Amino acid sequence: MPASSIDAIERLIAADQRARGIGNLVQWGSVEHAARLLARQGHVVIASGFYLPVPKAGETDGPPGAKAIGAALQALGSTVTYVTDAPNAPLFQAMGLSNVRLYEPGLLEELRPTALLATERPGRAEDGRYYSMMGRDITEFTAPVDEMFVEAARRGIPSVAIGDGGNEIGMGNVRELVRRDVPNGEKIASVIGADRLIVAGVSNFGAYGLVGALSQLTGRRLLPDTAQACRDIQAMVDAGACCGHTFRNEPLVDGLPLEATEVILEGIRALVER
Ligand code: MG
Ligand code: MG
Repeated sequence: MPASSIDAIERLIAADQRARGIGNLVQWGSVEHAARLLARQGHVVIASGFYLPVPKAGETDGPPGAKAIGAALQALGSTVTYVTDAPNAPLFQAMGLSNVRLYEPGLLEELRPTALLATERPGRAEDGRYYSMMGRDITEFTAPVDEMFVEAARRGIPSVAIGDGGNEIGMGNVRELVRRDVPNGEKIASVIGADRLIVAGVSNFGAYGLVGALSQLTGRRLLPDTAQACRDIQAMVDAGACCGHTFRNEPLVDGLPLEATEVILEGIRALVER
């Protein structure tokens, strides 16, 4: 199959919908590389969940994309374990996911995954602390899930990360650009890298794009049903999730209504399910 569909997906998800200054951060080609890395795995750990200190809730961006990738990898024969922390676990459960573990030291050794993926999961900054996009210190609310990525790199376990702001796991690959281009970048830029980094306008959209690329590479229809994906976001909101842009308990993802999720999913589907 021509890689051009994946290039088109990459252009779709790279749109800087929130005008965060991520344009120069996009690693062109990484969507296909990440899909090739993940297409044949045995056990993939998927980390997500971003706690917002002001509403005291997890955000709607992250876990829906994690679920989409997890479902796709399971369809391709991999085992998937989701890893998050206590404030975010109920949001995974609200979407019907049961194979969710809370981070604890030694978890990587216990699970022994063949690959790791993070989407919209805080990565520590140079000072060792975790920050929101606004530069607020969220360390006390954030389990050091990113330690699994440090340990995986040490052990040679491959990793993929998706982010949209600069403060997430994976952004260590482009931290100098985050410092230069993103508001509060000097403070929030994560130093935690990944083997493949997908920078998207919205992390969920990056995750859907990765699933589209997996569909393209394998010839399988792996994208989530659009209506179900929107019901999942609503279910998270009903369980307390907040929008990471308005900080309110409402069915928005980074300030965008569910229609934006519909448009991106159908746009990716049109590129790969022909
Ligand atoms: Mg983000
Ligand atoms: Mg986001």
